[in-house]
Amino acid sequence: MQNFDFDLFVIGGGSGGVRAARMAAQRGARVALAEVAAMGGTCVNVGCIPKKLYSYAAHYAEAFEESHGFGWAGEAPIFDWEVLKANRAREITRLNGIYQGLLLGAGVTILTGWATLVDAHNVKVEEKTYTAKNILIATGGTPSVPAVKGREHIVTSDHMFDLTPFPKRLLVVGGGYIACEFASIFNGLGSAVAQVHRGEKLLSGFDDDVRTFIAGEMARSGVNLQFNSEVAAITKTAQGLRVELKGADARAFTVDAVLYATGRVPNSSGLCLAEAGVTLNPKGAVEVNRHYQTSLPSVYALGDVTARLQLTPVALGEAMVVVDHLLGAAAGKNPRSMSYEFVPTAVFTHPNIGTVGYSEADARKEFGKVSVFRADFKALKHTLSGSGERTLMKLLVDDATDKVVGLHMVGPDAGEIVQGFAVAMKAGATKAIFDSTIGIHPTVAEEFVTMREPVKAAVAAKA
Ligand code: FAD
Ligand code: NDP
Repeated sequence: MQNFDFDLFVIGGGSGGVRAARMAAQRGARVALAEVAAMGGTCVNVGCIPKKLYSYAAHYAEAFEESHGFGWAGEAPIFDWEVLKANRAREITRLNGIYQGLLLGAGVTILTGWATLVDAHNVKVEEKTYTAKNILIATGGTPSVPAVKGREHIVTSDHMFDLTPFPKRLLVVGGGYIACEFASIFNGLGSAVAQVHRGEKLLSGFDDDVRTFIAGEMARSGVNLQFNSEVAAITKTAQGLRVELKGADARAFTVDAVLYATGRVPNSSGLCLAEAGVTLNPKGAVEVNRHYQTSLPSVYALGDVTARLQLTPVALGEAMVVVDHLLGAAAGKNPRSMSYEFVPTAVFTHPNIGTVGYSEADARKEFGKVSVFRADFKALKHTLSGSGERTLMKLLVDDATDKVVGLHMVGPDAGEIVQGFAVAMKAGATKAIFDSTIGIHPTVAEEFVTMREPVKAAVAAKA
């Protein structure tokens, strides 16, 4: 039997890689992890965490504004971008250290540098080659920017956290998670934000009511939304970056920064994956089976490099399934499996979107007869705040089983609220169970258990 340097060699120290390395080492495996940049990957360094911190920062603008209706008075506070950047950087450095410490504490060997796959059992980091019984590719993804005239002037989400100086005028291209979140955040922080999207609605894949509603809320809060629009060219002028949109009557904007948030591609190039025998799909994602095994059975892959659901908790969940598959389940437990049904998600727009389960259109395709319960209202807080913000809550019920198969919200803390309902839906909660649940009053969340009459009774899907 061959002696390997390691039982498991993980390439990439992001959400999935760190979780897999740490869990495997805690089970007694000899584990190495190679990371070329800061420990923690996208989520910690240029994703979820700094984004959410900036979202908190941006919410203060409306909080100060709304406080007047509750009797608070005084001069409007001044926002200092340099303070926010410095405090964020300090916190991220602290988190990098925590991730490093967790790995070292579990006994993982950390290797710093760019790793490439040599073959089924060999990984090269910089100039040194290591052998491993199993290899895990957890190299994540990276922003994808289409060819556009003036592409050299644009920035991606990776750059947004440290822009210098603060962009007083920002143009965001895209209508997905990142575009909507950054448009909301910088609008809240005080930028004049225009968002240019090629489609008719934001956030494709989300429930249509949610897509329409969030656009209304973002526009109300000041984001200048341009639908069915594409960028023709970006040029540098003495006044800033001039962005021309396509079409004869198309508008032009002069801004300080142009953010392209037009999707992400798997980090699968430069790793010699195809050369080593790992099959990639046409979009460069690593192909895996239900055990996350690639076409080389000793080599596994998970997270954004497999380009399925690009979410941190999904990468974490997949990591635990891989560890159980390789090392067996923890004592007294069954091996974990991963279900992609009812994965909750939030978009940290202002207000937030929280969603779990099917959109109305998908629910009709899947279940046929679906009843729709919907509430659109002004929350109690805004009776005094002076804000025109409204909240949307929507439930979709499969008529045949009475199960709640879709739950959607646009409103403050929607992510926090929807997380708990996701547990109920995983457990198969029916509308009758929602109805028999006592609300917590006065909250916004209680609306989910008090929607009595459907706005659309169950109708069969149109052929
Ligand atoms: P990553 O976290 O990207 O880690 C991959 C790591 O591999 C990186 O550290 C990289 O440096 C390293 N690497 C790559 N190639 C090599 C190599 N050859 N050798 C050595 N190291 C290598 N998800 C949420 O759930 N909630 C959110 O709020 C959220 N917000 C986001 C905001 C933004 C702006 C972005 C961009 C993403 C956000 N995401 C969010 C998505 C989330 O960050 C990713 O789904 C998650 O980080 C994927 O984890 P991963 O382990 O697959 O890859
Ligand atoms: P998304 O796939 O969410 O959105 C990409 C957007 O760019 C879409 O609106 C798409 O339009 C548009 N687009 C794509 N190509 C072009 C082009 N050539 N020209 C103009 N527009 C284009 O990607 P993001 O980059 O926003 O985010 C990547 C992933 O990261 C997300 O899908 C999500 O999984 C994850 N993420 C999660 C977050 C969270 O959990 N809160 C936050 C941020 C990211 P169209 O719809 O027409 O295709």
